[in-house]
Amino acid sequence: MDCPNCGVYNPEDRIVCWRCDQELPKPKESKKKADPAQAQRRMWLILLVALVVWILITWVLPRLLGGGLLPGS
Ligand SMILES: [Zn+2]
Repeated sequence: MDCPNCGVYNPEDRIVCWRCDQELPKPKESKKKADPAQAQRRMWLILLVALVVWILITWVLPRLLGGGLLPGS
């Protein structure tokens, strides 16, 4: 947010302005309160995608690439 005193930009996690040490107004907490269940669901989705990618890379891709080199397999 912008400093109310000197107008310079400050990162959201700053408590005081880096330039003039003016205390910054606290950012609204409502956005920080993420739904933990939703966050966990997202984490599982990321894990699932990572697993699929891992299977593709370690299992499917060598078979696809090796199919031409190893006839009969
Ligand atoms: Zn300032």
